[in-house]
Amino acid sequence: MTYVVTQNCCSDASCVVVCPVGCIHPTPDEPGFATAEMLYIDPDTCVDCGACADACPVDAIRPDTALAADDHWYIRANAEYYQSNPPSPEWYRRQPRRIARVSAEGLRVAIVGSGAAGFYAATALLRHPGVRVDMYEKLSAPHGLIRYGVAPDHPATKAVAGQFRWPAGQQKRFTLHLGVEVGGAGLSHEALLDRHHAVIYATGSAGERRLDIPGEDLPGVIGALPFVGWYNGHPDHARLAPDLTGRRAVVIGNGNVALDLARILTADPDALADTDIAKPALRALRGSAIDEVVILGRRGAAHAAFTTPELYALSRVPGLDVIVDPEDVAHGDGPKLELLRELAVRPATGAKRIVIRFNAAPVEIVGDGAAAGVRLSTGEFVEAGLVLRSIGFGGATFDTVAGRVSAGVYATGWARRGPTGGIGTNRTCAEETVDTLLADYAAGALSAPRRSEPAGRRLRLWPVRSQDKVAT
Ligand code: NAP
Repeated sequence: MTYVVTQNCCSDASCVVVCPVGCIHPTPDEPGFATAEMLYIDPDTCVDCGACADACPVDAIRPDTALAADDHWYIRANAEYYQSNPPSPEWYRRQPRRIARVSAEGLRVAIVGSGAAGFYAATALLRHPGVRVDMYEKLSAPHGLIRYGVAPDHPATKAVAGQFRWPAGQQKRFTLHLGVEVGGAGLSHEALLDRHHAVIYATGSAGERRLDIPGEDLPGVIGALPFVGWYNGHPDHARLAPDLTGRRAVVIGNGNVALDLARILTADPDALADTDIAKPALRALRGSAIDEVVILGRRGAAHAAFTTPELYALSRVPGLDVIVDPEDVAHGDGPKLELLRELAVRPATGAKRIVIRFNAAPVEIVGDGAAAGVRLSTGEFVEAGLVLRSIGFGGATFDTVAGRVSAGVYATGWARRGPTGGIGTNRTCAEETVDTLLADYAAGALSAPRRSEPAGRRLRLWPVRSQDKVAT
């Protein structure tokens, strides 16, 4: 028997730290970590202790003997990683990263943003006795993209937030302020620095990229951010009313978000009813006429942005055909291309379908008053009643060195690295930012807060809804 990492892997490396034989890779300090699609267990070194399965926050690690036949693909994927990346003896000698012992008593830190990056930063800070953390979130519910970004049919991934419940001694040094905007008309950066030694910005990405092609602003063209927010009940997007009356939708871009959009649009509404999908979105999807979603990738299959585990999961959705043109995937090696080739020869069943196109760059969105389809660089016109733009997020990132913008100001997560990587990638990023902050504090580089009242209940500068507090 061996343990196997499967689709939900969030790459936060909780498993790496507890593995007694160092058989889970890439580790956060190995070069491939930032771009890895998931982590993998070396079946030849695993001692079947199960510590990784216990530590995994998203239940992604299973004994191979407990996997359903469909999931045996992951046994191969784990083993193949070690064939393509032959283990070096160094991998198994490396000690897990130790938490630096620093004196941080009295340190007060504000974190702006309550998504994964903010919570991983809070976790890293609260490990140190005497550190107090105030987290500020402009929405009335925490967890950012874990709540409003992860697709509702991926509940195991959402479960990653479950690890942000700390032991009581740490929890009482943490206060979450909901409904508090920092910047603009809200609370100022200076007001935060008045009350804290340091501020960490974990505000994610500011917005979406644009295509900058004619027709992009036609009604019926919707960005992934509002569309995902709509089905996840984001308060800013709850009223979106996408037109689902046409039979075909087009998704431009082929990252994991594009796969999420296509999967939700073709999902069986009865299956979605068991998830936490927003009720108005579920009602709309029940009435949807869409039976085909075309995903347009502007480059060839070798450059597809979706990850192999997500494609594999899509390929196993019951009652869904995933269509790929054999010519598009005739060349190239690796698990993703192999899987695409398998899909290219799989007979269609006539069910709802997702068509994955490559070398299909959009040059214009065409429509008279509303989007009616997309013209490609080849001249081809793909008719569609709904056009979703899923080409990644944008906006400025903070310019940092190891997470430091300047002494007292730090950034982590997408606000630091840009919009790449899954949820767990933020853990290593946040821990590095916190290490930098703690070193600055220990070196006396941070100014003491000028105001001593504890942030939270007694601060009346902004609305803090006590019923929303998670602090005990
Ligand atoms: P992404 O992975 O960066 O993909 C963006 C896609 O948009 C790419 O296919 C890109 O093509 C395309 N694109 C960009 N500009 C374009 C243009 N002007 N015209 C046409 N196509 C264009 O972005 P994402 O899907 O939003 O995901 C963001 C991050 O979240 C990723 O790291 C992703 O893995 C992660 N995520 C993970 C999960 C999961 O693990 N389940 C789920 C959702 C998101 P090029 O490659 O040619 O630039």
